[in-house]
Amino acid sequence: IDYRNKKTYAAIKYDQQYHFWTVVKTDAITINNIFIKTFFIYLAVFLLFSIVLYNLFKHIAFSEQKNKDILCFKATHDTLTQLPNRSYLYQNIDCWINSSKQPFYVLFIDLDNFKNINDNYGHQIGDQVLIEVAHRYRSFFSDNTLVVRQGGDEFIILIKKDDKENNKNIFSRLIKIISKPYHIDRYLFQIGVSMGIAEYPIHSDKLEHLLSQSDMAMYEAKKKKNTYLFYSSEMKSIRRRNSDIEIELRTAIKNNELWMVYQPQIRQNGEIYGVEALVRWNNKNLGMVPPDQFISIAEATGLMPDLGEFIINRSLFEIQSIHEHINNKFKLSINVSVKQFTEDRFLEKLLYLVSFHNFEIHYLTLELTESLFIEDMDYVLPLLKSIKQQGIEMSLDDFGTGYSSLSMLEKLPIDELKIDKAFIDEMLENKRYQAMIQGIINIGKNLSQHTLAEGVETREQVEMLNHFNCEIYQGYYFSQPLSKDELITFLQDNINNSF
Ligand code: C2E
Ligand code: CA
Ligand code: CA
Repeated sequence: IDYRNKKTYAAIKYDQQYHFWTVVKTDAITINNIFIKTFFIYLAVFLLFSIVLYNLFKHIAFSEQKNKDILCFKATHDTLTQLPNRSYLYQNIDCWINSSKQPFYVLFIDLDNFKNINDNYGHQIGDQVLIEVAHRYRSFFSDNTLVVRQGGDEFIILIKKDDKENNKNIFSRLIKIISKPYHIDRYLFQIGVSMGIAEYPIHSDKLEHLLSQSDMAMYEAKKKKNTYLFYSSEMKSIRRRNSDIEIELRTAIKNNELWMVYQPQIRQNGEIYGVEALVRWNNKNLGMVPPDQFISIAEATGLMPDLGEFIINRSLFEIQSIHEHINNKFKLSINVSVKQFTEDRFLEKLLYLVSFHNFEIHYLTLELTESLFIEDMDYVLPLLKSIKQQGIEMSLDDFGTGYSSLSMLEKLPIDELKIDKAFIDEMLENKRYQAMIQGIINIGKNLSQHTLAEGVETREQVEMLNHFNCEIYQGYYFSQPLSKDELITFLQDNINNSF
């Protein structure tokens, strides 16, 4: 090769062992070509590798983000209904509570009697109902709303306020939509909703307060059911008093603050038929607290088992001792609240106390209210029957105000209908009430149940009720509720002169 006019690379090496020089020459173009070729191959491999690596990392980062999003969604959403949860609400509340102070409503919503569905049909059906409820919320609201599942059957909804007329309409429409029938599997349900409403910024500018205010209003709405109520400041004082009652009630039995009074029940001929046991409470801080205030609180706060046991125990003990000392036995009627009645082993405990006090069981009556019959009838009916079998009588308290239908009344082993005081109060002026009272007395006759009129205050009422053939009377006209000693005096006087 002629290297004279070409750019050339040469390498020289001297070999010491053989004493000669090695000279190698190559033209630059060949070397450059090899170099460039190799360089581009490496570059291509490098680029390819980088692209693969880049895509790999991109993919990893993407699925990491996806996982993170899923985790984040799970942490801020409810798994059953896919609605945002309470922590989502807290994280995003700044979009609602801000300097522009644009008003909005906080709705605290609780389904009515949802527990019954869970208890009667199982949690799976209950879950289906909740999913359907969530679906109805979502399709009812569009923008400007946040629907949150608070837990259980409770939901929180934030709605931006436009003009008030419009919003009020929304509340009643919402109730209508949620209380439409639910078809789940082969079942058909109807559930109501109770809704409490607080308003930002009028009621408060803090989420925590708005939530507790709407919760308070919901609690009040619950008393009526299937309705909505706005928060008001009086609710706060009622709530405070209720919580005072709860605190004091916890130690009331131990501190001997409770006692029983007995209101006589009189037959048409003036003889004593029995007494209704009514509980009384005097507390050093709260004064006299009426039973219709503290019984419902005891029920709501888990104090009813102890209170109920006190009531039954004390009444059986005191009336038994009167039975023993006065030779004139009479009935003892004890009010039993729904929670108390559906408590575990209610009958077993009752029977134990009856035998402990040597009380003759057929002198005992239990007063139940119609609200018991919206509970699980598969549980309640057999229990009523076994109570009846033991020889205990049952009376339906406040009759005429509740839900009982005639066909239901036939199925129940009820011995006495207690005509509600509301009818007696107005019977003299109100012909419709007179007709209703006569109707109740006739129902009683047909079903072999006797009728008792409560809250009888005047001679005119007694005369009219006599005329209608009502069998037993109870009320201030005959006697106020009496302490044990007063009752003994009353009974002794009554043996001699009847009414
Ligand atoms: P209730 O069972 O309907 O009791 C009748 C209430 O009417 C009693 O009020 C009684 O004192 C009152 N009353 C009786 N006759 C007259 C009358 O002629 N005029 C007027 N104005 N009132 C009359 P009380 O004792 O305050 O009880 C209120 C409610 O509290 C009871 O209604 C009952 O639901 C509940 N309660 C009272 N004691 C007990 C109890 O020992 N256990 C349970 N579970 N509930 C009780
Ligand atoms: Ca009663
Ligand atoms: Ca009553």
